[in-house]
Amino acid sequence: MTTETPQIFHGDGRASENPADFLKSFNRAMRQQSITTAADKLDAFGDYLGTSSQAEVWFQAVPTISRATWATFVIAFEARWPPVKIAEKTKAEYEKELLEHTLQRADIGKKTKLYDRECWTHVAWAAKTLQLATSAGIAQSTSMIWQVRSTLPDIVKDLLKDEEYANWTDFAKAVTELKGNRLVEKQEQYNRQAQELNALKTDLARIRQRTPAPSAVDTLQSQFSRMSVNTTTSPGTPQVNSGYTRTPTNQNQQSTQPTYSRQPSNAAVTQQPTVVTEELKANIRRLIAAFPHHPDTATGNAAHLAQITHWNGKWGENTRVTHETGYPLKPGTATICSGECFACGTHGHNSRSCILPPGDAARLERKEAAWRAITSRVLGTFNRFSATPISLVMNDGYEITSAWIEEVPEQQGKADGST
Ligand SMILES: [Zn+2]
Repeated sequence: MTTETPQIFHGDGRASENPADFLKSFNRAMRQQSITTAADKLDAFGDYLGTSSQAEVWFQAVPTISRATWATFVIAFEARWPPVKIAEKTKAEYEKELLEHTLQRADIGKKTKLYDRECWTHVAWAAKTLQLATSAGIAQSTSMIWQVRSTLPDIVKDLLKDEEYANWTDFAKAVTELKGNRLVEKQEQYNRQAQELNALKTDLARIRQRTPAPSAVDTLQSQFSRMSVNTTTSPGTPQVNSGYTRTPTNQNQQSTQPTYSRQPSNAAVTQQPTVVTEELKANIRRLIAAFPHHPDTATGNAAHLAQITHWNGKWGENTRVTHETGYPLKPGTATICSGECFACGTHGHNSRSCILPPGDAARLERKEAAWRAITSRVLGTFNRFSATPISLVMNDGYEITSAWIEEVPEQQGKADGST
């Protein structure tokens, strides 16, 4: 047990003193020293007062009647130094505080202290938020969660999977569990994009001032309109000039296959992960391994069906394929990440110029197409040299025999955005 040593009390209103706390501290010290009688306590009391202080002057003048018992003495003390009543905050005040307790974008991905331990700012934010919700008496409800969630910076909201939470504990937990490193990445990405945007703004202003040539301004403006500080946009999305040109192989195919019109693929719909990290690559590799690609045999097809059933059971049939779900591969189709067309699972063309028209029964399921697009984007076509070339054989016996083309998966990832 620590020994109580009350601070010397002066009673002159200095900020470092709280009369009520001094009295408590004095009482604890007396208890520790087994000094119990009023007379003994009053004897000791004077020793804790500043020499010639207002408190000492007052103490020396305390009338005998007030010195009769410790209780009467306390009444006199409190009459001279009334305890400051800390007003209890109302529910509304806590709610207001809750809304004002915001997490600033600039602070994200930084460290701070919580109960003397280092932690991420978002973790500290979540802890205080939960405390405030508890004080406001709404912790067990969903009350105000969405308002508070909406004050979070986009880079945090983007990483939160759910829009709704059962209660504040749930919500605080979801925020706490966000990986600090991911937030740092997001933050850096945001800053980079903001810088680019500013540079572009400066350029635009300069051009407007000097050369009012409409073409230059138009070019910049259109570039401008495609730029966004919204960090959900993948830096790899080919909306901003990728400089990519399609190989002429497809043109030849088209001319020999007039039955089919070339249409942009709708198949490779992906919700693309923002940044390709080593962690993401490892996860994608693990998922590829988790879905063995079966041969086109009765057993293989049965195994594939079982994979699909299991996937639907786990994720729900209408769930969009993401870099976290993976997806089974149709037996007999091209090896994943081998430069295959994501729409039909064969080689020789890419999904934007797939010879099978959208809706053709021979096309792969959209979800599989999306998964193939995601894996190729993240890992590249690492299987292209080891994969068996798979050609699409048309019903009339025509076999597409064109050479493999250079597949640029990023180009395929862009699609209509529906599932
Ligand atoms: Zn195809």
